[in-house]
Amino acid sequence: MKAKMKSQVNKAIFFDKDGVLNPDVDNIYDVSLDFFDYVPFILGECKKRGFHIVMVTNQPIVARGYISEDELFSKLLQFKHMIEKRGKRKIFDGIYFCPHHPQGTVKKYRKDCLCRKPGSQMLRDAAENLDIDLSHSYLVGDRVSDLVAGNAVRCKTILCKTGKHSLPMIKTNLLFDEKFTYSNYAIDNLESLLEFVR
Ligand SMILES: [Mg+2]
Ligand SMILES: [Zn+2]
Repeated sequence: MKAKMKSQVNKAIFFDKDGVLNPDVDNIYDVSLDFFDYVPFILGECKKRGFHIVMVTNQPIVARGYISEDELFSKLLQFKHMIEKRGKRKIFDGIYFCPHHPQGTVKKYRKDCLCRKPGSQMLRDAAENLDIDLSHSYLVGDRVSDLVAGNAVRCKTILCKTGKHSLPMIKTNLLFDEKFTYSNYAIDNLESLLEFVR
């Protein structure tokens, strides 16, 4: 009998958006579309190394009533297209967002959900939809809440210091384990990412 071929593993790099792909300018009214110059190249190189590229972003702007969920999604698509146009290639395999907030003003979105990081539901959903092996994947974020989301599902985590890395963790009612607040690596910006993701 022939040995069964080891099935190929899909691996991903999950990118937080604000503070990682674009400066976090504390714009609570709109979606920032102004990505860092190096983003198309770095993400393109990650893609060439065989990673699925997935954006995972908390966007409480919807729960706060400033834009609708549809408007948010079309702005995130616009962001994706701008990056891919500059990079001259398809880059993103998935975009996942959490529109909720525990103190949102829009009732439908005011809740303690599992998708808002430090919750890991966006990563779990992506893993399910794209058949990703999370233990061979990375998460890049600028906040402890990102790291917790990644560590809790066994991704390797990378703290990217272009955002709110020096601020305390976002407020959450979600119970999480303090032992998940570490990062495996820390980088000054995404330009150093290629040294770590293999
Ligand atoms: Mg961030
Ligand atoms: Zn959510």
